[in-house]
Amino acid sequence: MSTIFHKIINREIPADIVYEDEHLLAFRDIAPQAPVHVLFVPKVDVATLNDLPRGQPELVGRLALAAADYARREGFAEDGYRIVVNCNGDGGQTVFQLHLHLLAGAPLGRFGTTL
Ligand code: AMP
Repeated sequence: MSTIFHKIINREIPADIVYEDEHLLAFRDIAPQAPVHVLFVPKVDVATLNDLPRGQPELVGRLALAAADYARREGFAEDGYRIVVNCNGDGGQTVFQLHLHLLAGAPLGRFGTTL
């Protein structure tokens, strides 16, 4: 499976990369929904949260820790932030490589619902 995020991981298209390690890449969202909007993406292929291997819960844990570390480094951990993982159609997922959104930099209000 190759998505636009795989192309970013493979440096085939550019992105504003803010963090990388052997397991994951983090870069700024191209259409930010908050003053800070960074995406944390694992380097292994996992299309959606439904596809997270049962034996690899650390895969999501690493994304969450990387996001919390980033928040601390950038100085907004205490003010707060939001982590979002969209899954499939009703969740609003548009890129089918698992990713965690980090949103911050202003009070974010309640998150959306159609109800
Ligand atoms: P989702 O809707 O949860 O699948 O989120 C996909 C996100 O990827 C959206 O917030 C898009 O704005 C973002 N996005 C799409 N293409 C790029 C890109 N080339 N670089 C950075 N972010 C992107």
